[in-house]
Amino acid sequence: MNIEGIEFGGYRIGIPVPFPMKYVYCYLFKQGNGYVMIDVGLNYRAAKDTWHEVFDHLGIAPRDIQTIYLTHFHPDHSGLSGWMQEQTGADLYMHEIDAAMIERVWGAGSVQVVRLKEMVLQHGVPEELAAGIADHMDKLGKNVLPLPVTKPIGDRLEFGEKQWKVIHTPGHSAGHVCFYQEEEGILIGGDHILERITPNISVWPGASQHPLHEYIASLRKVKKLSIQKVYSAHHSPVQNVGERIDELIEHHDERLAYIESLADYKTAFEIAEVLFAHRELTPHQWRFAIAETIAHLNYLVHEKRIAKQSQHPIIYVKK
Ligand SMILES: [Zn+2]
Repeated sequence: MNIEGIEFGGYRIGIPVPFPMKYVYCYLFKQGNGYVMIDVGLNYRAAKDTWHEVFDHLGIAPRDIQTIYLTHFHPDHSGLSGWMQEQTGADLYMHEIDAAMIERVWGAGSVQVVRLKEMVLQHGVPEELAAGIADHMDKLGKNVLPLPVTKPIGDRLEFGEKQWKVIHTPGHSAGHVCFYQEEEGILIGGDHILERITPNISVWPGASQHPLHEYIASLRKVKKLSIQKVYSAHHSPVQNVGERIDELIEHHDERLAYIESLADYKTAFEIAEVLFAHRELTPHQWRFAIAETIAHLNYLVHEKRIAKQSQHPIIYVKK
């Protein structure tokens, strides 16, 4: 079992995900006569089995979980939360922007898959690949149902018998939040700052069209806090927080400069083909590759470094 005791009597728990990062790290803290859970995992067999093992190992009854907080709505963090609420009866809190996204993307009558297909076609993705991307997105639905019943998260929380500030960090998702324990300099960071990989920053239908501006602003906001350690949701905790933030900003600056140099009568798809030429991508990875490329292109258009020619598909040109 991938479980480790951390500050304030808490636990850092690796819940398996069927993706290359292998685990999403979720957290449990004692609070009052029960427990608080932060992030839950993806709804599939291995994740559910792991939670049962964790509860047995720690001697926790499901009903002891009284509160669940979600850092953001992405399926590897939220997908199992409806099931977890059924098991525990816990109240679940998250940022209202992401609560609305859960409903938009996976709620009854959602047209998100249709909108996603339209978006990628508009950016030059060939029909067959666009169909594959839509199909994969559609199938992901089974890993997130039932949807949780959500309540809006406030500005301050208490768990591990400590006070935590809720820091809104839009970028990776528009309603992403981190939890900051000021006295000890601990941040529970979700996917805002990761150790080995750069968090995916993408444009999605119905979400912010400028996630990269928001993400960089959120990195600068967190850099001003006094943080010793970030407990992130993938890979190891981050210790040199200021340095890691600088690296992430630098990564995007370099990526932006490269994409700017490629934007010469090309579509987002043609640019993504150059960016990801060294890798064979599945439709699932193509979805992120395109959405991430559009995020960078939108940034450059907003900064007036390139221009968009609204044709079908959209063409990007150098200024
Ligand atoms: Zn994640």
